[in-house]
Amino acid sequence: MVIDSHCHLHDPAFSDALDALRVSQSLDVWGVIAVGCDVATNARNLQLAASAPKGVWACLGFHPDQDRLTDADLEAVERQLTEHHSRVVGLGEVGLPWYSLEGKADAAERMARGRARLDRLLALAARYDLAVSLHAPHGAAADALQALQRHRIERAVFHWHKASPEVTRDIVAAGYFVSVTPEVVYRERDRALVEQVPLESLLVESDAPWKYGGEFAGLESGPWLAARVAEEVGKLKRAPIEDTMFGLSTNACRLFHLAWA
Ligand SMILES: [Zn+2]
Repeated sequence: MVIDSHCHLHDPAFSDALDALRVSQSLDVWGVIAVGCDVATNARNLQLAASAPKGVWACLGFHPDQDRLTDADLEAVERQLTEHHSRVVGLGEVGLPWYSLEGKADAAERMARGRARLDRLLALAARYDLAVSLHAPHGAAADALQALQRHRIERAVFHWHKASPEVTRDIVAAGYFVSVTPEVVYRERDRALVEQVPLESLLVESDAPWKYGGEFAGLESGPWLAARVAEEVGKLKRAPIEDTMFGLSTNACRLFHLAWA
């Protein structure tokens, strides 16, 4: 059994999220870290965590790559965090913009605004001792690492991690986790990442309802995919699947301070 460390269970694709949880539990995924993007999706996660306290754990987030989100939205998420921090296991997903900067004339300005917003959110994570689930792909990863260290954040994961081997090495040396998605089954970059990073620093996730290629093409996406990711991690590490799942579950529990179900 394993835990899905990053899933958008709030998404309308999961019209019956608790049923998706039940399906996942029958397929070796015993729990889900439900990350949010804004006030509405965060509220949905709080609701789901309350209705499945041993299977869903909520994080409250502010997505850094969603153009539509304003400073007023950020303030609303800050108020939500202040009110509900004792009911959540983490801040996420938060991070730095990357994909939304592509081709934008004011990319530098947008990045500066993204950094300032992340600083505000990490200050709250530090105050309330929350784990952080980061969106900081490619060139954003090194910056996000610095931000974590500036705020003395002790527990964090770089979700769907994509960065150079050097930056990955620094993230692991700093004691943070990196997480892989179903892409690890068919994408060389992700397979090399798993080879590089010790099992003690790895997590698995679905990032559902994101749809994947390879053997997953045309299939529905959900937290259950995390079990297939764990299986592939075990193959790459040449370790028995049970030991791999136990290690990955332990990591998720350490990161989010979960009690074993
Ligand atoms: Zn996500």
